[in-house]
Amino acid sequence: MSDSRRSFLKKVAGGAALAAAAGAPMARANHHEGKGGHEPGKGFYGYLGRGPDYRDWQVIPEGLKITKIESFLKEQLAMVRVTVSDGSTGWGQIAPYEANVSVQMLHQRVVRRALGKDLSHIDAINDAAIDENMKYPWSFVCRALGGVDTAIWDLYGKKLNQPVAELLGGKVQPLAAYGSSMRRDISPADEAARMARLKDELNYQAFKIRLGVPTGHNGDAAPGRSAAIIPAVRKAVGDDVALFADANSCYTPDVAIKYGRMMQDHGYAMFEEPCPYWELEWTKEVTDALTMEVSGGEQDNEMGQWRRMIDMRAVDIVQPDICYIGGLTRAWRVAKLAEAAGLVCKPHAANVSMITVFTMHMLAALPNAGEVEFSIEDESGITRQARELFDPALAVADGKALMPQQGAGWGVHIKPQWLSQAEHRVSEL
Ligand SMILES: [Mg+2]
Repeated sequence: MSDSRRSFLKKVAGGAALAAAAGAPMARANHHEGKGGHEPGKGFYGYLGRGPDYRDWQVIPEGLKITKIESFLKEQLAMVRVTVSDGSTGWGQIAPYEANVSVQMLHQRVVRRALGKDLSHIDAINDAAIDENMKYPWSFVCRALGGVDTAIWDLYGKKLNQPVAELLGGKVQPLAAYGSSMRRDISPADEAARMARLKDELNYQAFKIRLGVPTGHNGDAAPGRSAAIIPAVRKAVGDDVALFADANSCYTPDVAIKYGRMMQDHGYAMFEEPCPYWELEWTKEVTDALTMEVSGGEQDNEMGQWRRMIDMRAVDIVQPDICYIGGLTRAWRVAKLAEAAGLVCKPHAANVSMITVFTMHMLAALPNAGEVEFSIEDESGITRQARELFDPALAVADGKALMPQQGAGWGVHIKPQWLSQAEHRVSEL
């Protein structure tokens, strides 16, 4: 354990450190007794991913109402601006993929669960959006909610003049990153060459490659590609670099175990989403059979499924996606369930946009943090669009992702020009 991690654990164990550091009231309520928290009745039953020690957030005092929720959509990016009764605002982002659908869900199904609510009751706002969409659960509801939740966290930071990482008990700092490939249309030789180059240029100490085909029924993107890329990348980057591989739900357990053993022979450290993600028992079979670590959870946004995944140790490493799961608040609940089970949290963040910023703030505060996922598809659409959206552009230096520090909250500056070109929708009281 690193000194900084040890000292963080000590600090949290010390009690009031979280709120004292944030200058916030220490009134985080237990979920079943709590002001502002959900009140599911008598006794604890793990409501919506709360562990036994979970306390609902109360980062700022009560008294400010959410009065307006706006969306700004341009190409694949959608931003959410939350305004409260004193005129203050905060910025969040919706997951980029099919963001236009999420924007529709935001205004049709989510905003009415947040408008008029007290800004300080972030857990209750989250829970209301989930509960009241029980007929339309998960994916797009959670994506829309993620925009609201992350905007509220930005507001908290701005109100207290602190980065979100500090509100969570961490600090802004460079964070170990891994270079994440998103490509299967690249040959093993070319992938090996670009990872070797990125190691030299940016001193990456970890990379992730792609195996198989997403939900590909044991298929391969090109004949023999998966078997060839495993040794090729290891040979190119040397033995001192950590290597991971992502199968995106491709394999049955027998085939996953075969590739897993091949990776173990080449010193790979993590096998992500080896089996169709909903088949927890299949994934567990792979986890139990391999000595390397198995990870998963990026698609999962249902807290009962998360609890089962963690309780049965289907994976060794949990990977919630802050924008898919419904925001920082819900991702934090998963990270805390994982921490209690002794599991590492290495969130999914497959593009370089605000999701990477949110992820860095969370990882900077987690004692069970893994590396930041940093896409190496530098010229891909979303990365280019995100450069037009906010300053500073995100970067890796000396193997570490640099956290933006332009002010409180998320520490970024949203560019007026991008906003002026975006499709704007408003919901208000
Ligand atoms: Mg993945």
